[in-house]
Amino acid sequence: MNPYPRKLTEAEKKLVIWLLECGTPEEKVFLSTVSGLQVTGRCPCGCASVNFSELEPDRNRRQLTQKAFEDSQGNTIGALLFATSDKLIGLEVWYLEGEPVPRETPDPDVLRCID
Ligand SMILES: [Zn+2]
Repeated sequence: MNPYPRKLTEAEKKLVIWLLECGTPEEKVFLSTVSGLQVTGRCPCGCASVNFSELEPDRNRRQLTQKAFEDSQGNTIGALLFATSDKLIGLEVWYLEGEPVPRETPDPDVLRCID
């Protein structure tokens, strides 16, 4: 059965809000849209990156500010949000050192901003 669309997990919601709150004033505008987000799919590689919208490659897709964090094990994690002009369309997370990819959504409580 197709599990999508589904609600964001608490961890996903927390990370999205946290990323927006450390963002620019323009990025903070998206905070009001978080409660309406739904996950429509995830990255096929098995990492914790998710989409909030069917991908529409030519439709003003842009990256918001990339953030880097260190988790409690000392791994450096990169995270960023993708958006169109008016909505968030994806959350991407990765280890800056490469493999393995983060399979769990990083918890802001154990992350430390390093940039
Ligand atoms: Zn992936």
